[in-house]
Amino acid sequence: MSDSSNNTHTASNAYENKHWQYHPTLPLQPGPLFTRPFSPLAVFRWLVQQWLPFSDRLLILILALVSWAFFTPSLAQSQQLQWGWISSLLLRNMLLMVLVAGGLHLYLNILKPQGDQRRFDGSILGHNKRFTFGHQVHDNIFWTCASGVPIWTAYEVLMLWAMAHGHVPALSNTVAGLCLTALLLFLIPLWETFYFHWIHRLLHWPPLYRLAHNVHHRNTNVGPWSGLSMHPIEHFLYLGTVLIHFVVPANPLVIIYHLQFFALSAPTSHAGHEGIILGNKNVMPLGGFFHQLHHRHFDCNYGNLAIPFDRWLNSMHGGTEESHQAFITQRLKKKERYFT
Ligand SMILES: [Zn+2]
Ligand SMILES: [Zn+2]
Repeated sequence: MSDSSNNTHTASNAYENKHWQYHPTLPLQPGPLFTRPFSPLAVFRWLVQQWLPFSDRLLILILALVSWAFFTPSLAQSQQLQWGWISSLLLRNMLLMVLVAGGLHLYLNILKPQGDQRRFDGSILGHNKRFTFGHQVHDNIFWTCASGVPIWTAYEVLMLWAMAHGHVPALSNTVAGLCLTALLLFLIPLWETFYFHWIHRLLHWPPLYRLAHNVHHRNTNVGPWSGLSMHPIEHFLYLGTVLIHFVVPANPLVIIYHLQFFALSAPTSHAGHEGIILGNKNVMPLGGFFHQLHHRHFDCNYGNLAIPFDRWLNSMHGGTEESHQAFITQRLKKKERYFT
């Protein structure tokens, strides 16, 4: 059961007790951006907490800065599509994925210094016939590395090449350009909330679900390698977010961070644990319980809690018994296609 001291279990929360090894305080609540009455102070605190003192988005920003400074070709080099720099980007991205997804998997699921603390679902990520190679982790590594990382790299190559040829509107190197760069880096995670929700709903359109998204949904429980474990069609759609920079001005750092945020926050958001725990303190928040509920039940919680589209569209599962009953009723009413 939950090790959270601020959760009190009663007879009315049978769903939470029966289904989860750990859960955060329930019911889940949307963030303060769209909560009424609107509180600027609550929004400010929430935005700061998204980044500080440490977070996956801050880690990814550091990785993007290092990648941009030391492991990215100049725009002059990018004008010619040559295997040398393209292969070095592929290798760099592969190493980043192994560092983040592999590092989290090693820490949380193999070495396990925090045991099962803050682990949502107690089931093992192991042998199962429904996965490629008959093993969940091997399947997830395969789809991530054989499709996800190459498609991420292909988009990066396309955007750098397009930028080098003037097809992408460029941010200037003036103070105004630097301020806009900082603003875009800050906004990309919020943009992800919007973009992911709608792409994800599209992926649940039955023909597209059967063709592509079911590869990701083999994972009813998730681990870090599950995040970018998708069919190539889903990779093209999900990472296609970066094409917005054919309209929205950018520079190589913005392109690199945009793609790295989408690619590398997938493992962190599917970590299956609420965070890295040191001395009972969550020093780095990770996987969201909101999306974990989506993996368990399929047809709820398509987005996340920053912009509460799911609440507005009546597809939100808040994690409680009451919420689960409402979800089941809703599912029966709509004659839903997928059944757990
Ligand atoms: Zn997922
Ligand atoms: Zn889905």
